[in-house]
Amino acid sequence: TLSDRLDKVFTGLRGKGRLSAEDIDATAREIRIALLEADVALPVVRAFIASVKERAAGAEVSQALNPAQQMIKIVNDELVDILGGETRRIRYAKQSPTVIMLAGLQGAGKTTLAGKLGRWLKGQGHTPLLVACDLQRPNAVQQLSVVAGQAGVDVFAPEPGNGVGDPIAVARESIDFARRTMHDVVVVDTAGRLGIDAELMAQAAGIRDAVSPDETLFVVDAMIGQDAVTTATAFQEGVGFSGVVLTKLDGDARGGAALSVRHVTGQPIMFASTGEKLADFDVFHPERMASRILGMGDVLTLIEQAEQAFDADQAEKMAGKLASREGFTLEDFLEQMLAIRKMGPIANLLGMLPGAGQMKEQLKQVDDRDLDRTAAIIRSMTPAERVTPKIINASRRVRIANGSGVSVTDVNQLLERFAQAQKMMGQMAGSMGMPGMGPMSK
Ligand code: GDP
Ligand code: MG
Repeated sequence: TLSDRLDKVFTGLRGKGRLSAEDIDATAREIRIALLEADVALPVVRAFIASVKERAAGAEVSQALNPAQQMIKIVNDELVDILGGETRRIRYAKQSPTVIMLAGLQGAGKTTLAGKLGRWLKGQGHTPLLVACDLQRPNAVQQLSVVAGQAGVDVFAPEPGNGVGDPIAVARESIDFARRTMHDVVVVDTAGRLGIDAELMAQAAGIRDAVSPDETLFVVDAMIGQDAVTTATAFQEGVGFSGVVLTKLDGDARGGAALSVRHVTGQPIMFASTGEKLADFDVFHPERMASRILGMGDVLTLIEQAEQAFDADQAEKMAGKLASREGFTLEDFLEQMLAIRKMGPIANLLGMLPGAGQMKEQLKQVDDRDLDRTAAIIRSMTPAERVTPKIINASRRVRIANGSGVSVTDVNQLLERFAQAQKMMGQMAGSMGMPGMGPMSK
């Protein structure tokens, strides 16, 4: 997957914490391969990479993410933006009926979609009518009647036995019929061919002119991959459409068709079909598709959570302190404990942050009352004592205990814990300063 690849690219750079031009170029190559593997068409890949590079170059360097994570996040954000951000809803006509026309190649899933839409619309409180305008295939009308029956919605079809009917006339009549019978949404199923075909395109355009659709949905099989571009372009020129439905997403297609179609036509992807059953259908979710194209599960969610929870400044400051062992004082110890408390709920995410795994131990020791007491003790110390705890002899301990209202044992315990933390910090600083030797590098 892309995340594995990027991890490899950044093995030598881990912990560097910023995106250089070389970082971006190195990742761009991997992203390109990942997109091509996901079946995104080449010109679309090129354009996409260009905008990702631009975004990456202008991006603020994240303190919480390593360069690989940050690039993945940028790519993902760009994908989600291009795939439509928020899902677009159906635009209903001010005056009923709203007309939705389906167009696409044969086998794309139009007739099945008519049933799915019928069921879905009914669930939204509408009274849909499915219209059979595929009079090409002998059993097409029958197939639509079956799905309409399953969806529990009405169907409008030419009388059987009158020879090959005229789909444009059927389409026109269906609108009048819907008006008379109080159906508020008309879903027009049309014929498709295996390839793009001028006669068929003309027929679809004729139906379009007869019914003036409020929405024309281009139905495309996610499995067709690279061909999505030519097919979508042909339908956009021949019929025009206002939205896209991706079908067969239950297959193993990585979903590159989504990006291609969206990119070349500029029309939003509105619905997704994920199986043969009528219930296998949902509005389109750009974030899910982005993850699918990139080939990763909820890695991104994790990154997002970590980034939000981890105070970037804090991380930077701590890293600076860690660099010199002597620099880590009791004051820092207190500050660090406060920071750790803030991160409390994400304790289990800490493993993702460079070097932070070791802080998990400390997390266990922090609770609120403990923290207040620690703060009181440290504040009862003189500045010199905070920086050089070695000078805190027996009489100073008594003074500090009295000043902060705790026992001498409490003061002793705190000093002991600090000594431990200082040692641990020293180890972390060592591993940070020497790439290739500590837990920072894999
Ligand atoms: P049309 O020629 O565009 O009307 O396509 P159909 O609706 O007849 O669908 C063609 C075939 O694809 C049928 O066997 C459907 O059951 C199947 N199909 C449609 N949508 C999906 C889907 O989302 N997933 C899967 N697995 N099969 C689908
Ligand atoms: Mg059909």
